[in-house]
Amino acid sequence: MTTQDSELWFDPGKCLIAGQWVAPAGGGSLPLENPSTGAVIGAIARGQAADVDAAVAAAQAARDGDWGRMPAFERGRILARLGAMVAERVADLAWVEACDVGKPLAQARADALALARYMEFYGGAADKLHGETIPFQEGYTVYTLREPHGVTGHIVPWNYPMQIIGRSVGAALATGNACVLKPAEDACLTALAFADMARAAGLPDGALNVVPGLGAEAGAALSAHPGIQHLSFTGSVATGAAIQAAAAANVVPVTLELGGKSPQIVFEDADLDAALPFLVGAGVQNCGQTCSASSRILVQRDRLDEVVERMAERYRALRVGPAMDDPDVGPLISAAQKDRVLGFLDQGADLTCAARAEIGDVPAGGHYVAPTLFTGVSPDHALAREEVFGPVQVVIAFEDEAEAVQIANGTDYGLVASVWTRDGARQMRLARALRCGQVFLNNYGAGGGVELPFGGVGKSGHGREKGFEALYGFTTLKTVAARHG
Ligand code: NAD
Repeated sequence: MTTQDSELWFDPGKCLIAGQWVAPAGGGSLPLENPSTGAVIGAIARGQAADVDAAVAAAQAARDGDWGRMPAFERGRILARLGAMVAERVADLAWVEACDVGKPLAQARADALALARYMEFYGGAADKLHGETIPFQEGYTVYTLREPHGVTGHIVPWNYPMQIIGRSVGAALATGNACVLKPAEDACLTALAFADMARAAGLPDGALNVVPGLGAEAGAALSAHPGIQHLSFTGSVATGAAIQAAAAANVVPVTLELGGKSPQIVFEDADLDAALPFLVGAGVQNCGQTCSASSRILVQRDRLDEVVERMAERYRALRVGPAMDDPDVGPLISAAQKDRVLGFLDQGADLTCAARAEIGDVPAGGHYVAPTLFTGVSPDHALAREEVFGPVQVVIAFEDEAEAVQIANGTDYGLVASVWTRDGARQMRLARALRCGQVFLNNYGAGGGVELPFGGVGKSGHGREKGFEALYGFTTLKTVAARHG
């Protein structure tokens, strides 16, 4: 496989363990597919339990060694340096991601920039997290220490590898943990590229180890490993539940980010010109494979026809094509994901299709699905309740504020929501009433928001990543009570 005009600068068939590129102990490999064409363009390592054992041991040694003893400000400098290196190679990383994930180049560039920004943010935060002194009884001095968990496991999906690695590994390293990263089998190249840059930035050997492989093998081995003190997972509800069960057996904390069915609520007084790019963009970005994708559009009935017509216009203008052509919408990640999304579209056969984008001239083996907008959808319909993880949005009508809240809160998920209204009091009421982890008022996503704590309620998961808040999750608090008379 080649990048824009040169060979990859790391070996995609290896694991990174204790600062060394090593073949997986079992010698196995997995095919590396380009989703835009369906062509197999290389092979990645099929890491297994033995590789996870070696990676956890390397991380433990780093914790007990140079990495564990390093002052916080020096950890921060390494992360800041790494961020600058990532920023310099945004074009290369974007090209690699486009080949591996089928992500349109502009979106892949945005992910690489976010990765750089996470390193910059968490690098800056590393020496600003501290405990406190607590007023207690006469004769005591009491204070708290914020300490790293030790060795943290990071299991990452294929939809936003760079952003998810940035937010999770960045916060874990900033707080002094040593990490074992298991990227998705469908998308591990930028994880390897990032780890290679981390070495070059001066991260001590073993502080970040990467073991690519299958979920049922390397992933399961990592989540059940007794040497792991914290697990961070982003992905499906079923896998998240399995990981939480594995962590429970070792009694270790877990952060789960499991996607959603996130609504945008459009009231009759909304500024539609401002809303429209977000109403459609937040649904089809990354071909709908976004945990915070806005797959439900709730519209107050008075403006239903207008909103649907204007969204449909945008759907008809979407350019769908190979990632390297930088279209609005690329392919899905895999044939399996395409089958899954087509299955959902079959379930929508009874619905009114308001618009379906044209798929242009695309390679036959690519995993393309036409972005589709359904209208007049009942909140009980499967497409209004289940996470499709493809470019499919449903429009649901509501009469008043109470009904909007009821529908918005009416799924098992609760990740993000947005409200489009000029009424300030209504904005405040809805911000409180919506059951989710982030609410956007007259915007959606706030441009990714590295600084903004992120996570869900209900089946969307628990724990928070991103922002300063993540640093608390990657540390444990020790209380010291000194009795001195
Ligand atoms: P998944 O949740 O199974 O995979 C995510 C990560 O978990 C991958 O690295 C995978 O290797 C790993 N994994 C899988 N099984 C594991 C196990 N038993 N133990 C430990 N790790 C394991 O997701 P998927 O199968 O790739 O996709 C299925 C569906 O999940 C998608 O259609 C979509 O609905 C959802 N999904 C959601 C997100 C999100 O960001 N919320 C991301 C990916 C997939």
